[in-house]
Amino acid sequence: MAKTCIGIDLGGTFVKFGLVGEDRRPAGEVFSLPTPAKANPDDVVAVMARGVEQTIEKYSLRREDILGVGIGAPGPLSVKRGILLQLPNMQTMRNFPLRDRVAEAIGLPATLENDANAAAYAEYLCGAGEGAHDLVMFTLGTGVGGGIVLEGKVLHGANEMGGEVGHIIVQPGGRPCPCGQNGCLEQYGSAMNLARYATKRIRREKPASRLTDLLEKTGAIDAKAIHDACRADDAFAGELWDEMAYYLAVGCVSICRLFDPDRIVFAGGMTKAGEDLLGPVRRHFQQQNWTMLETHTTLAIAALGADAGAIGAAGIAWDAFDSKPAR
Ligand SMILES: [Zn+2]
Repeated sequence: MAKTCIGIDLGGTFVKFGLVGEDRRPAGEVFSLPTPAKANPDDVVAVMARGVEQTIEKYSLRREDILGVGIGAPGPLSVKRGILLQLPNMQTMRNFPLRDRVAEAIGLPATLENDANAAAYAEYLCGAGEGAHDLVMFTLGTGVGGGIVLEGKVLHGANEMGGEVGHIIVQPGGRPCPCGQNGCLEQYGSAMNLARYATKRIRREKPASRLTDLLEKTGAIDAKAIHDACRADDAFAGELWDEMAYYLAVGCVSICRLFDPDRIVFAGGMTKAGEDLLGPVRRHFQQQNWTMLETHTTLAIAALGADAGAIGAAGIAWDAFDSKPAR
């Protein structure tokens, strides 16, 4: 078999494994092993080593054909030092040198990258950003994560804190964010915050809406309920949905002024709404964008789903251990 890199994506529930060939495309199916219950560092390293061995067996790889292993993990972390600084819900992993420990355990060189950056890189290589020169990804889930790929490289910044697209300010003096700023995009564009602020408004204003009835009946509403109500022509839900789309579009316009990417990709749970999400964002994007010149940035939904992290991590390893650029 030709040369390959193996990608590992450390999640709260599963550790995923993927294989990427020299063409920077998946060379096999992504599979997963359960993340050790208490995330004991030694157990996590052992699971990663086991998954790599299983990949080698499954595809009858020769060790000398594996250039290296790329690991994607939740941040904050240091790519340069290969260290996890802290993991939410994984206190035992604080300041843990994951990259070198895994490299040692499997006897292959390794890289460490933020999982959101790895996913953005995968979309750039072989997903919704294929063929793009530059790509910016927004992952809309509990929070808003993402990554920036400029001229084939993931942007990190001087202190490795770059690319935090969820914390660009879209409303000065707006909703407080746990990061300490006010008016971050995350407070307006994440599934959790959409539902949270909708609940607040319903309790305060009691609008005539099926969401008000639902909240009274079940005690909670989520982003999916808002989307469903929106589809049923509920005016209040439509207003909430449109407001979210507006702020996402404002974020996209600022990103365009800074980086002029040809592709902006949305990933995460919210993108299950598909064109119902993308359509209004595109409309506001056009309305808020400058008129001085035409903007050629296209907005798209991510293509690789939950496999993106493992594929992107392997792509990062290719970049680190092979001298030829991806494209
Ligand atoms: Zn913030």
